[in-house]
Amino acid sequence: MRAFYHPDQSLHDPQQFMQIGRIREPKDLPRRTEVLLAALAKRNITAEKPADYGVEPALSIHTKPYLDFLQSAYERWSKIAEAGPEVLPNVSPYWNGRPEWQNRPACRSDSIVAQAGYYLGDLAVPVGPNTWTSALRSSHTATAAADAVMDGAPFAYALCRPSGHHARTDRASGFCYLNNSAIAANRLRGRYGKVAVLDVDAHHGDGTQEIFYRRSDVLTTSIHVDPNFYYPFYIGYADERGHGDGEGCNVNVPLPPKANDTAFHAAIDKALMEARSFGAEALVVALGYDSHREDPLGMLDVSTEAFRGIGERVRAAGLPTVVVQEGGYQISVIGDCLGQFLDGLLER
Ligand SMILES: [Zn+2]
Repeated sequence: MRAFYHPDQSLHDPQQFMQIGRIREPKDLPRRTEVLLAALAKRNITAEKPADYGVEPALSIHTKPYLDFLQSAYERWSKIAEAGPEVLPNVSPYWNGRPEWQNRPACRSDSIVAQAGYYLGDLAVPVGPNTWTSALRSSHTATAAADAVMDGAPFAYALCRPSGHHARTDRASGFCYLNNSAIAANRLRGRYGKVAVLDVDAHHGDGTQEIFYRRSDVLTTSIHVDPNFYYPFYIGYADERGHGDGEGCNVNVPLPPKANDTAFHAAIDKALMEARSFGAEALVVALGYDSHREDPLGMLDVSTEAFRGIGERVRAAGLPTVVVQEGGYQISVIGDCLGQFLDGLLER
């Protein structure tokens, strides 16, 4: 199986993460990638370095003002006397600033402080000196995996870090800056007429949903903890089904807290059935391990072995598949979760 990863992706090293009013230890540690690479090595899979695709894949999904902000933010921030070590917002603008505006325009202010509030959606997305480099390389990893599948590989794994599924067209949030899963799905459209996204991270794939919400060529499905109890809270409910041309092309399967392997697998079966009736010709799996019962940010009761069942189900779907790495923060289990998934997928 082909897999992709660029060493620059581990440069991003967030220092601060605000949770329930406290600055806590960051959760998206660079060490996550070492553990996942070791799981690949154990199965004789060597990650290939992706080519440098520049900013073009990110631009296929994100707005230019947002990308310009991400690229320049740290340097501009560090010129402010007494600024903290990372770009973090201290203002929270209303989604749409003026009643006559239908869509959110670029930030009107040139101030880095204003733009941090505008483009960083929460306090889990600090921008440090290497964040842009790592996020950009992560998007290249997703792109290379999509290209490998379009070249005929049945499956390809993109070891993306930072993750992507919370990133909107013009906003970072939830440890995510560039939406790698969306970039891969959009790329696959270059060969396949209809593409489905199966997001099994414990959090709703809100960025991916928003990006494709009005499109009929990409079905987005997400299995996650009911947002009534869990981040991202404001989106991810079952009645969000898509809009306009995209009506019926978004499927959310919220699970109650403490849902177990059986409930998790049943939700995946439902999502894959939707992908079949949609007529998907290729699949993107947004794979997170924060559904695991030991995850420090988790709320579900999913076992390590359950990931084998996920891999088996993806295999049975019989579609060319790009697997994109999303969350999962318990360092002691995520390598085994990936291993189990791959053993199921590759029938080992
Ligand atoms: Zn997650």
